[in-house]
Amino acid sequence: MPSFTRLQKMARDRQKVTGEEYQTALQELRTHVPNPALIPRAAVGQAGFEASLLDLLGQIDISLWPTGTPAWGFTRLTPRLNELVAEFDRRCLIDFIKEIMPCDGGDAQVYGYPGLRIEKAGNGVALLRPGPPGRLILRVSWSDWNKAAAIARQELAEDHEGQPPAPFWVERPQDWHPRERAYVAQWPGRHDSTGPFYRNASPLSVLLRHLIVWNGGTNLDYIKLWTNGAMHDGHAYPIHFAWANGPTHPQILALLQDPIFCRDEQLGRLMSRCRCYQGACWLTLRLATGNKLFLRRDTEPVRLTTTKLPDREHYRRRLQRRAAFCADHGLPGPFDNPTSPTRKHGTFWR
Ligand SMILES: [Zn+2]
Repeated sequence: MPSFTRLQKMARDRQKVTGEEYQTALQELRTHVPNPALIPRAAVGQAGFEASLLDLLGQIDISLWPTGTPAWGFTRLTPRLNELVAEFDRRCLIDFIKEIMPCDGGDAQVYGYPGLRIEKAGNGVALLRPGPPGRLILRVSWSDWNKAAAIARQELAEDHEGQPPAPFWVERPQDWHPRERAYVAQWPGRHDSTGPFYRNASPLSVLLRHLIVWNGGTNLDYIKLWTNGAMHDGHAYPIHFAWANGPTHPQILALLQDPIFCRDEQLGRLMSRCRCYQGACWLTLRLATGNKLFLRRDTEPVRLTTTKLPDREHYRRRLQRRAAFCADHGLPGPFDNPTSPTRKHGTFWR
């Protein structure tokens, strides 16, 4: 059993990765005595859930978010065996709900995370699926969630010319919609808990559990998951994780604590040192799972994508809505004053 002094040191190290208060970090470590891991791994089902979540986070339209926004809105994470508890920047809630919560995409498609539902959890909102394991608790109030959800639905309706995609999670709050079940059954490799995506889920889960590390450094401009490392034809594609400004490669490597990143033999497992070209610095790691992980730090922010090409008016309305949401909640409202030059003129679209 580690000494109390050792636990205190671990708690301080853990804070750098999770952003937790010291007492929380210490308490979490103590629940795992005699063998506390600094950042515990997720159980298998939870890891698959988190991998799916990170995959969707990587697709959030962050074009309205100003420089310095925390990584996809997460400001603190408490990782546990069967859940992830998050402090969350409420300014990011609208875009989070738009991307993550499942809606009918027509033509047997589902937008968002099939089966995902919400329930009250203490002073937060729990996101989970009836049946399979996996749970994320966002420490935001029920009423904030609902206000943000109303705006999210209004914008989804705009994106679909007045025909809002039916929100499965609102229409069937306790159960899956048959179309969600059909969709998931169509892609067993991706959604089946014994399929390749789940079997290969731990790197993405571990990355998500270290997400707060990316809030270090200065002025994170954006963060993006370009490819999720899924298997195709028995071949594991790399995980491609990118960000602009924010922490440097040495800062990141110093804080990636899980053996999956091969920290113990770090230099042996780094496939390359920093290679900088065309406004980005690339670092490639060979993960313990055999997968490659590209950590790409953009030094000249690229334009990110949205699937729609909104006009200026459209863009302005969205900024106004976010500003009003912030004002309503007494939040600092930088959304009405984006500072990044790539975003200022509404040109942040592919
Ligand atoms: Zn580098």
